[in-house]
Amino acid sequence: MLRWNSRLTGQPAQGDDQGEYPNAREFAGLAARAKFHGFQIEVDDRGGTFVFEPKTGRRERVTGFSCSCKQWIGSGAAACQHHALVMVEKGLAPELAVA
Ligand SMILES: [Zn+2]
Repeated sequence: MLRWNSRLTGQPAQGDDQGEYPNAREFAGLAARAKFHGFQIEVDDRGGTFVFEPKTGRRERVTGFSCSCKQWIGSGAAACQHHALVMVEKGLAPELAVA
């Protein structure tokens, strides 16, 4: 599980040519796609954060550094719209520079 470890430590694994942590523009793009598909942020009564997909009925568990979806397992934050949506909506994603 070298790739998974590399996500946790932030150190690039050998041969890891993908899955960079998204920059501001990439976060915005992922979140925009989540909104386009109608993804909704939900918080349960214990403070857990979830993203619900109305079209598929799926509900993914999101934290500040993880998501329960397949995309996260495969590529981490670089491919996960759920995590990006929560980061952007909560103001935790890097800000787009204002020109
Ligand atoms: Zn996800």
